[in-house]
Amino acid sequence: MIVSKKEIPSFLDKLISDYQVFAPVQKGSYTLFKQICSGTDAVLDGGITKLPVKEIFFPQSEKLFSYNVTNEGAKLEAPVDDRKKVVFGVRPCDARSLTLLDNVFNNDKYQDPYYLTRRNNTILVGIGCNSPASTCFCTSVNGGPFDTKGLDLLLVDTGDAYVVEPVSDKGKELAEKAGFAAASDADKAAAAKVKEEAVVSCRVNTDGLKAKLDVNFYDPIWDRIHEKCLGCGACTYLCPTCHCFDIVDDAVDCNGCRVRNWDSCAFPLFTLHGSGHNPRSTNKERYRNRIMHKFKYFVDNFNEIACVGCGRCIKNCPVNMDIRVVLEDIRGSEARLDS
Ligand code: SF4
Ligand code: SF4
Repeated sequence: MIVSKKEIPSFLDKLISDYQVFAPVQKGSYTLFKQICSGTDAVLDGGITKLPVKEIFFPQSEKLFSYNVTNEGAKLEAPVDDRKKVVFGVRPCDARSLTLLDNVFNNDKYQDPYYLTRRNNTILVGIGCNSPASTCFCTSVNGGPFDTKGLDLLLVDTGDAYVVEPVSDKGKELAEKAGFAAASDADKAAAAKVKEEAVVSCRVNTDGLKAKLDVNFYDPIWDRIHEKCLGCGACTYLCPTCHCFDIVDDAVDCNGCRVRNWDSCAFPLFTLHGSGHNPRSTNKERYRNRIMHKFKYFVDNFNEIACVGCGRCIKNCPVNMDIRVVLEDIRGSEARLDS
């Protein structure tokens, strides 16, 4: 199937009458996913958005329920966001990040109703990356610029049009309903060429990284590797796979609500015990945890690296910490089992 770029705004306008539609919109010098009211608001050639798509499924701040306690008992009200959504213009790394987050929010021990209701009611339409940025390294962590994991439809930009490739039944249904024209052999060949020519120039060697992290918890490398890091948490907030949160009650007398907010392992308060003891009392322990969580603990738990190589942490770190350099450094370090 194929759709010309000129038809996209009217296609989105039709979707808006049936769904909440999210797409990248321009905010100053960058793009962000926002709900759009008009198809012309979508900015589809802006590359990766500043914040990842996780925000739509796992908001930065979310009311879990409100409560009112009286002498007669307690009343609870839990909002359920079951509106049908289309997220349009998702890049493949962000779509794959959701399949990683699914491990956390939907597993044998725990199913998060807030996240899952949104996931189940959402169609993800992706756009492949013809020209990956210099900070992208998706192919080093099991992804790729036209990877379809997590997507329902993939669009391949061939110049004036997108070749539309259904990935799931939901995506196929959406494309058929839209009445896109059939792609010719020439269109398909153009899409194949675009995919072939999209080069992710940065390669991060992760061979043996997990084996090294299994045994280097006490390696002196951790004493120096974190030194530049300010502990600002920007990399965790912008990362599509980071998912730490805190839960607080916002209450006056007997009325209030329980709210879930993003948190960050880069912050000292994150692990501070009520006793005053903090098992990750310095930035060294906190930075080590960030690396260990993504490249060891997540692999131990779910057999996947919790990084999709989007490069946001590299682009946005105020002191230019580069996770690619850190990983290379760790791969070259000595193994130390003792403290
Ligand atoms: S963005 Fe940079 S300085 Fe801030 S916590 Fe992450 S690595 Fe450290
Ligand atoms: S660790 Fe950095 S490169 Fe990897 S997914 Fe998170 S923000 Fe992207």
